[in-house]
Amino acid sequence: MDLPIAILGAGIAGAAAARELHRRGRSVQVYDKGRNPGGRAATRTREGAHFDHGAQYFTARDPRFLDQVEAWRAAGVVQEWQPRLVAIDAEGTRRLETRERRWVGVPGMRELATNLLHGIELECSQRVVGVEHSAGAWFLDFRNEARRGPFAALLCTLPPAQAVELLANEVVVDPARSVQFGPCWALMLGFDQALPIDFDGAFVNTGPLSWIARDSSKPGRPAGERWLVHAGPVFSQESFDLPPAEVEARLLAAFYSILELAPIAPAQSALHRWGYALAQPPLELGIIADDQRRIALGGDWCHGSRIEGAWLSGCLLAEWASKLA
Ligand SMILES: Cc1cc2nc3c(=O)[nH]c(=O)nc-3n(C[C@H](O)[C@H](O)[C@H](O)COP(=O)(O)OP(=O)(O)OC[C@H]3O[C@@H](n4cnc5c(N)ncnc54)[C@H](O)[C@@H]3O)c2cc1C
Repeated sequence: MDLPIAILGAGIAGAAAARELHRRGRSVQVYDKGRNPGGRAATRTREGAHFDHGAQYFTARDPRFLDQVEAWRAAGVVQEWQPRLVAIDAEGTRRLETRERRWVGVPGMRELATNLLHGIELECSQRVVGVEHSAGAWFLDFRNEARRGPFAALLCTLPPAQAVELLANEVVVDPARSVQFGPCWALMLGFDQALPIDFDGAFVNTGPLSWIARDSSKPGRPAGERWLVHAGPVFSQESFDLPPAEVEARLLAAFYSILELAPIAPAQSALHRWGYALAQPPLELGIIADDQRRIALGGDWCHGSRIEGAWLSGCLLAEWASKLA
């Protein structure tokens, strides 16, 4: 009997694993607790908003991923973003000239996972709360008390703390126990008029912020003036439990301060807290697998903390699963 393979997480890693297994003719079923696929490569589109509030753009170096990017480009799923970039530090602002190509999903970063999962069995808003390995097969339990299974193998692409919680009794999860993940606050700002700023993205090396970008300067986005602000790891950690209104006020003040602008009330403002933003540092194992139990873990935290690494780790998960007897 050809049982399906269960994939936990519909971020880039889970979506890449699903696409590759589907291509190899395997039956897969993907589950994610979020409303949409994408994970941290996300786009906020609620209430008239349009922001990439997680991953901002991606780069590509590995030949396999370069092929994927070219396929996406040809299909209109990604476009190159050529932002005017600066670095802002305590000494001031300097222009950055880089040759690196920066890609974005169109119309948002979420499109990457959506595209990979096209035609694949996916259930969103499904939080997995338990797993059971019985008679050589896997079964999943969900928060809404649903149960799914049997599955031939289990591929888990959850961030490590969540994987450890879910798979506490599995030896395969042991390397994940040591991976530290930092949080990140994201502030989304919309303005009625263009701000007098002559760049589109800034790496910020002073104060509470780490990155700001004119989100509306990315290709294929709705018109408008929208800015995305990411707090740095130290501020995000220290302010993790503060009331959101206080965090928002502090980030907004820092935004105007580094831009040397008089505060203008934004027409739109929303705050998001990424509890698990980036592994510090990631493991460089690709995936972690247990052939006997037919379970494997992957994700960006196994492969470089970036979209490219998440995609490569997903492909490695698929390769591993397709070799199982
Ligand atoms: C603020 C921020 C900025 C970033 N900037 C960049 C950038 O500019 N360039 C870049 O390349 N990368 C960037 N990254 C990193 C990039 O987003 C990640 O490397 C990549 O998206 C990780 O993909 P993944 O599939 O490994 O994990 P995730 O995207 O985290 O996917 C895991 C999925 O598992 C789901 N899940 C978790 N628990 C459960 C459960 N119990 N049941 C069901 N589903 C569950 C989650 O909902 C999620 O969709 C950034 C990340 C953040 C947070």
